[in-house]
Amino acid sequence: MIKRIEHLGIAVNSLEETLTSYEALLGKSYKEEIVESEFVRTVFIQVGESKIELLEATDERSAIAKFLEKNRQGFHHVAFEVDNIEKELERLKGEGFQLIHETPKDGADNKRIAFLHPKSTAGLLVELCQEKG
Ligand code: ZN
Repeated sequence: MIKRIEHLGIAVNSLEETLTSYEALLGKSYKEEIVESEFVRTVFIQVGESKIELLEATDERSAIAKFLEKNRQGFHHVAFEVDNIEKELERLKGEGFQLIHETPKDGADNKRIAFLHPKSTAGLLVELCQEKG
């Protein structure tokens, strides 16, 4: 079951250049983390019950680098918190959604994550995430 919007992911060219204005807008960030497998550096800012995740590429192999080759920096993905990520992937696959990740992988902020292909969601990149127990 999808429970809530956990965070919105924002792709940025440079965290150094962007973070100050986001912190002025939303308040202090609480976590900075490099996700080696994804070649990204992320920073999280809490906004009520949700978060903003700023993502910067650490390598040209990063999906964020590829995104920024084609798009301006800005909104990148929405992440929905689920109670059981395996079950939810199974359900969505059955509903005909195209999955980028068939099985969950480790993501930032102590989460297991999986992405759906934007082809299935009218262009919206959707992340499912579940807090690691
Ligand atoms: Zn995310």
